[in-house]
Amino acid sequence: QATLPAPAAPADSPGSVVTMSDRTGLPSRVPYLIIGSGFAGMAAARAIRASDPLSKVLMIGDEPYPPYLRPPLSKELWRRKDDRVKAMLSPLGDMRRNSWLFVEPDSFFIEPRRLHLADTGGVSLWKGRRVIALDIADKRVTLDSGDRIEYGKCLLATGGRPRTLPVFDAAAAQSPEVASRTAYFRNIDDFQSLRNKANQAKSVIVIGGGFLGCELAVSLTEVAKKTGLEVHQVFKESGTLAHVLPPHLSEHTSKFIAQSGVAQYPGERVTSVDWDSAAGQVKVGLSSGRSLSADLCLVAVGIEANTQLAESAGLEIDPGDGGFLVNAELEARADLYAAGDACSYYDVLLGRRRVEHVNHAEESGAVAGRNMASDPADPDRKRSTYQHQSSFWCNLANTLAWDAVGLVDSRLETQSFFAMPPLASDDGAAGSDTAEDYQYPGVVFYLKAGRVVGILLWNLPDEIFQDKKAFAPSRLNLARKVLAERQLADPAALQALAREFDVY
Ligand code: NAD
Repeated sequence: QATLPAPAAPADSPGSVVTMSDRTGLPSRVPYLIIGSGFAGMAAARAIRASDPLSKVLMIGDEPYPPYLRPPLSKELWRRKDDRVKAMLSPLGDMRRNSWLFVEPDSFFIEPRRLHLADTGGVSLWKGRRVIALDIADKRVTLDSGDRIEYGKCLLATGGRPRTLPVFDAAAAQSPEVASRTAYFRNIDDFQSLRNKANQAKSVIVIGGGFLGCELAVSLTEVAKKTGLEVHQVFKESGTLAHVLPPHLSEHTSKFIAQSGVAQYPGERVTSVDWDSAAGQVKVGLSSGRSLSADLCLVAVGIEANTQLAESAGLEIDPGDGGFLVNAELEARADLYAAGDACSYYDVLLGRRRVEHVNHAEESGAVAGRNMASDPADPDRKRSTYQHQSSFWCNLANTLAWDAVGLVDSRLETQSFFAMPPLASDDGAAGSDTAEDYQYPGVVFYLKAGRVVGILLWNLPDEIFQDKKAFAPSRLNLARKVLAERQLADPAALQALAREFDVY
């Protein structure tokens, strides 16, 4: 009778040796440690396993869930029925049928207590725990439980947390009512809490005109359809998404959001926050002198990288954008890497950057993982440089959806090309646009020193072009190619490039 060969002894592979603590029965030394259980951490774990097949990886995260996609929390989930949302948010059971939110079900992960027993290795997820200190010299971390774990290679994939506004912090410290009615938004628990509170509220003020402020303001109008919730949006810029979009598209986006039923207050900052006990509402004073009152406030004014470990570790932080400083190989120090929102990396094409989007988390996590598992003696396990130009997308409606690659920053010079005749110029000069005009596809080039450094594809799906060769690149890959070529682009060249994207 044929017998299968026994798996290679784990002791043969340095990546598979785990030491357990006699006292706690939990790992006290692991070859691969990942701090953070978001998309960057998960992508790294998978890449380590792919390069070093018998490896044992320990991932520590402070959330009670296995890794999941955050983007649907501000968009799709608000358009689903209650029972669908419940199924989507459960990491148990037949996940592939119920949810595309989670990357893997809970059952995929090995219990930390059993990691040393996994003959062919695997990924263990220690949930609900925070790493509070990192000692680089001794290659050791300390958890909030007091446990200490030594590592061979470590990844910082700690992500970011919502920025707070001092005026709200001060009011919340004074008033428990303000504290309980001020919401921030980042994770599944925030989604559930906001949904419950919004269902009971009569009015909500969204503060912020960025991605989250815009997406959630529009998503909250779904609640408004059922309950009559009043949705207000306050932002300091003159238009929504003004930090990303050229003025004509920012203006169009604002019009769309207003037409969805959101009352907007552009050019306003919050100057005071008080509890109005007579009305039972939060009163928000604005820089123009007017004030708004509402049952609920949602503060969406950006995130800051979770770099608290830098202090104990003596790590360098990007003085401009925050984030652990890493090189193009995503290495902060020997055997220590960082990826995702939490890192400021050297982009060999576009210079130093910190990027806060899921595609970057996935791709940078994968490179960090490969580099952690690299082996100079093995040509199949070479170190690589993070060169992927990550993309991101915004989808406020079927006719207001876009993808972008590269430096998409409205402070740069932009040139827009639309299927319709030009409606308004990129320098913000008045145009004759109507809400319908920007339903047409378009492309926006972001320029630095005459070269294209960013591309935004407006209402242009990333599909293979229909009327060209079968293996033509997707539009996003074409955009990546244009950036990589670094050609000087005059207006005629840009017009020709726009045609390559099938805008016309
Ligand atoms: P953001 O950076 O997109 O926008 C921040 C907004 O807050 C801007 O309007 C800014 O002017 C405003 N702001 C900053 N400081 C302020 C202050 N002191 N007072 C008043 N306003 C202030 O960040 P976000 O919208 O909070 O999103 C959070 C994170 O989630 C980001 O990392 C974002 O990239 C990500 N996200 C991305 C998408 C997407 O790509 N579609 C969607 C949702 C969230």
